[in-house]
Amino acid sequence: MLEDIEAAVKAREFKGERLSVAERNRLIKRALARVFGRENVRVRGSRGTAYGWVKITVRRPKPHEGECDWTCERCERVRRETENRVWDILSRTRLINYLYTYYTDMGEPRKECTVVVDLRGTDRFRALEG
Ligand SMILES: [Zn+2]
Repeated sequence: MLEDIEAAVKAREFKGERLSVAERNRLIKRALARVFGRENVRVRGSRGTAYGWVKITVRRPKPHEGECDWTCERCERVRRETENRVWDILSRTRLINYLYTYYTDMGEPRKECTVVVDLRGTDRFRALEG
């Protein structure tokens, strides 16, 4: 499902080239859109020449009816699974190599990429996107 995106990244690397920031952002969007649906994925990244921070927002259906503050166990599970899925997609397509790494105070490496899972309603997501 994502092999062509991985192949495109590899082809560029084989030529000794790096993806531009715009290409990286576009391929991240394309890969995630294929899994979660185009209308459910937003990718906001630096538009300059440096890779910089990327903010990924993925909208998923709320896993249950009724009220909760989106921090209940079932909502948290969907959020965690979705985050893991996003990182897995970034790894498999090699796009993770186009995210900068920084180190926490504890010396642990982290990628300059925020993944937000939005379990809220459609209307709100559209409003955010506008
Ligand atoms: Zn909930």
